[in-house]
Amino acid sequence: MNFRIGRRRRIYEGKAKVLFEGPEPGTIVQYFKDDAPACANGRRGTITGKGALNNRISEYLMLKLGEIGVPTHFLRRLNMREQLVRKVEIIPIEIVVRNVAAGSLAKRLGIPEGTVLPRSIVEFYYKKDELDDPMVSDEHITAFGWASPQEIDEIMSISLRVNDYLSGLFFGIGLRLVDFKLEFGRLWDNDDMHIVLADEISPDNCRLWDVKTNEKMDNDRFRCDLGRVEEAYQEVARRLGIMPEMSSIT
Ligand code: C5P
Repeated sequence: MNFRIGRRRRIYEGKAKVLFEGPEPGTIVQYFKDDAPACANGRRGTITGKGALNNRISEYLMLKLGEIGVPTHFLRRLNMREQLVRKVEIIPIEIVVRNVAAGSLAKRLGIPEGTVLPRSIVEFYYKKDELDDPMVSDEHITAFGWASPQEIDEIMSISLRVNDYLSGLFFGIGLRLVDFKLEFGRLWDNDDMHIVLADEISPDNCRLWDVKTNEKMDNDRFRCDLGRVEEAYQEVARRLGIMPEMSSIT
């Protein structure tokens, strides 16, 4: 274990990351683990080098989104596995944007995987591990006070902007952005509150298919036991042009 981990106060440990108190007030260190999220059948495992790759991929995408004016929590990458982010109040909603039918949407609605959706669809899930993150509507979100109607509007508008931008970015490197999950947080600047993009954007929470072959280049390789999982994450990083810096990814 990295010795830096031992000295800092651990705030939270999730499936793919550990959060530590950051060096300055209002900051958090995100440590990216190699652990793969559990599959539907409960199988767990690790993907060698995934943490380092996701740290780098998420840094790259958050910086790119920042450049087009999307507010994010990202401050800077600290080392191979850690990045410094702003401490935000996480909104307990996962936003999934879909362009092509796959995963739970294909299953729930009986739409063949790979069907291009008539338009991008935004879904909300309540962040609650014990309940397996159930799907909810904006009615639930506002009635239970998880977010206000204005916040939902802002989240929807940022999510669709992220979708437009990332779809183009990935298409440019031969990958189809099938769907992805985002999380948002509240950031206070004196009395002003801003909604910012939080968590990470990586092949752990995006479905990415090769444009020519439809090969899956994301966490479904692990979830669906397709093999060559590490290679897929490395290939995404290589196509983004961020592999060469990484002499050792373990
Ligand atoms: O499983 P489902 O089809 O609903 O997933 C939609 C998208 O959201 C996928 O890209 C998946 O990787 C992502 N997701 C996630 N974390 C979850 C649930 C889904 O990153 N807890």
